[in-house]
Amino acid sequence: MAPDIVQTRTTPQSAPASAASGSRRVLISGASVAGPALAYWLNRYGFRVTVVERAPALRPGGQAIDVRGPAVEVARRMGVLDELRAHATDLRGISVLDEDGNETFRSTEYTASGGRLDRDDIEILRDDLARILVAASGPGVEYVFDDSIAQLDDGQDEIRVRFASGQERAFDIVVAADGVHSQTRALAFGSEEDYLRPLTGHLGVWTAPNILDLDRWQIAYRTRDEQAWGCLVMSVRKNSELRVYVGLDGLDHRDPALRDPEAQKRLIAERYGNAGWELPRLLRYMWSAPDFHFDGGAQIHMDTWSTGRVVLLGDAGYCGSPASGQGTSMAMVGAYVLAGELKAADGDDRAAFAAYERELRPWVTANQALADLQMARAHSDAGDTDTGGNDGHEDSPMTTTVDDDYYSVVDDFTVRDY
Ligand SMILES: Cc1cc2nc3c(=O)[nH]c(=O)nc-3n(C[C@H](O)[C@H](O)[C@H](O)COP(=O)(O)OP(=O)(O)OC[C@H]3O[C@@H](n4cnc5c(N)ncnc54)[C@H](O)[C@@H]3O)c2cc1C
Repeated sequence: MAPDIVQTRTTPQSAPASAASGSRRVLISGASVAGPALAYWLNRYGFRVTVVERAPALRPGGQAIDVRGPAVEVARRMGVLDELRAHATDLRGISVLDEDGNETFRSTEYTASGGRLDRDDIEILRDDLARILVAASGPGVEYVFDDSIAQLDDGQDEIRVRFASGQERAFDIVVAADGVHSQTRALAFGSEEDYLRPLTGHLGVWTAPNILDLDRWQIAYRTRDEQAWGCLVMSVRKNSELRVYVGLDGLDHRDPALRDPEAQKRLIAERYGNAGWELPRLLRYMWSAPDFHFDGGAQIHMDTWSTGRVVLLGDAGYCGSPASGQGTSMAMVGAYVLAGELKAADGDDRAAFAAYERELRPWVTANQALADLQMARAHSDAGDTDTGGNDGHEDSPMTTTVDDDYYSVVDDFTVRDY
């Protein structure tokens, strides 16, 4: 349930430069990827860390996401690389099917969701990654579920936070890691309309049992409907489950009716009501899926990532959209850099925020631009059914492949020591 938010303006203040990490209190909003990754590093550097998550427990759900390039190095430095690999989707390849369910293309060199299979990158379910990062962040980190920030009051010496539960506490830093629709960002920077750039259509994701008997395999099913791109299905968790992903076009990102999960499901059912192949069976599982997720593909563009004692991290600050394939890697690398700069600045948080932005922004900008490149590529490949490069719809990111140019941007970041 949305908290009763009272918006307060933050007043930029400098923290005393001499304050040691150990005494500094950091509140992180959001326990998905960015939040727990930052909690890990700050805890390791001796900060006092609290993470508040709106959901009553770690949120299930989401399609497979990718840990790529420098984010793999960050995972190695966190000591979680082996565990991430143990939970990777480990797919062998992809088939592209036409509307009648006939295979028109097959590859064992890449998948649509994970990219090239010969790289060190890790494709993993978002909820598995979040669980691993939370467990790694250490017993010193306080996790508060079923609550969220309702009001911020950035004062002379500290930032006072009122939570939706009514509790009030004070911190030195507040980090917005609560995703593309961040309420913490809204409190500190204003309405998301000023920062959110709709990019692609909407995506619905849910879990089903492996009724297709897929063996570490992905299927991209194309439809001819202009407003229903088709679906991507993959077997995950050692073939015990499927993750189903359907695309919708022509919806208004600001439409409040689209915030209701039951309305979202009805819309998917309507748009895909006449689809063939196995979609009717897969749709049946959508209604009761505990992890149904639906959102529009969008990016966040901010002129600055901090104001006063509030700083943005991950999707809250620079969402790349699923079309970029880089949201998770940007969140993990961002967490590493922000924590490192806070440690290096030894209490001068304003200097740390500026250094974080200087270090990370060029790479983030280039990675956000990948989404446009991928969309343009899908556009130029439209109608190409001989390769897996596109599903035949101009604006579908579902089966757009990635190439060397893509990876040269992904890899173009050196993970510094702090
Ligand atoms: C349920 C879910 C499904 C997703 N599915 C996909 C997908 O299929 N494909 C894809 O590319 N990306 C998906 N994403 C986005 C992907 O996880 C991010 O792009 C990336 O991993 C960066 O993560 P993040 O931690 O910055 O943000 P997110 O992963 O979006 O996490 C934000 C976290 O903040 C929490 N939160 C939100 N509002 C508040 C609040 N007011 N107070 C406290 N906590 C709050 C959320 O519950 C969530 O745990 C999904 C995200 C979520 C939450």
